[in-house]
Amino acid sequence: MWSRLLKCINCKNVLEKTNVGFFCNGCQREYPSLDGIYCFSDEANDLTDFFPEDSFSRLYEAENTNFWFRVRNIIIGNALRRYLPIKSEIMEVGCGTGFVASHLQKIGYTIDCADLFLQGLRYCKKRRAGTNYYQFNVYDELFYDHYDGICAFDVIEHIDNDKLALKNIHSALKKGGFLFITVPANKKLWSKNDEYAKHKRRYNIVDLKEIIREGGFEIIRISYFMTFLYPFIYISRRLLLNRSTNDDIEEQISNELQINPLLNSIFFNIFRLESYLLNYVNLPFGSSLLCIAQKRDD
Ligand SMILES: [Zn+2]
Repeated sequence: MWSRLLKCINCKNVLEKTNVGFFCNGCQREYPSLDGIYCFSDEANDLTDFFPEDSFSRLYEAENTNFWFRVRNIIIGNALRRYLPIKSEIMEVGCGTGFVASHLQKIGYTIDCADLFLQGLRYCKKRRAGTNYYQFNVYDELFYDHYDGICAFDVIEHIDNDKLALKNIHSALKKGGFLFITVPANKKLWSKNDEYAKHKRRYNIVDLKEIIREGGFEIIRISYFMTFLYPFIYISRRLLLNRSTNDDIEEQISNELQINPLLNSIFFNIFRLESYLLNYVNLPFGSSLLCIAQKRDD
């Protein structure tokens, strides 16, 4: 039985679930399902406006081994378990290839995968990372009063209007629902690496708190992370990248994804140690921020 509330992004009529996708009785618009992915936005055409063309395939290959993705999953899983009972219904917005979603599903959450890009969602399906797969633009208000938790991990820094994205996430949450978010932190770390990744900005703790509160949330917890490895990040970003040419950047980023196995294992253990500490304390600086917030009643 389909009990979810989705509204037409044209006319706000409640959408009807059909055998082939969704249908709006108001404006007669059909939203098709493509290989099991519900498609709501025509804009997912040009990936390269947002990311380099082979981003998703490179991510998909690197995520299983790269220390950053592995430990970030542990940190995210711990954060969710603390605030949301297992089996809660959650959505990951900007899910990419579904590496995080499949981890959260293994923990026991019911998770829907959402992204603007079909390329990423196809990898999610390949991993069977979620229950439902939605291709939509987070600028569109599509879901209402729907989820116990919504996740956006390293997503809103890619979006011009991060406030609108948060407003729509707010609408999609049930009363008292939780937002889990990570962003790149520390403007001093801005480098060609951010430009290459098509980031619009990095955040500091004050900015992030402000836009999340403005979006209608109460902040439950906010902490920096990637603290122990901060010196390495600082050196790599400030000293190496800013001196490099564009070709060097590609090489450097590919080196970061396909990191030397010994270094990867050292970094994994250091970052893993930090993940234990994060269960107990907030960290005062780092190259990323984690925030957990709750939908306010008003
Ligand atoms: Zn409509």
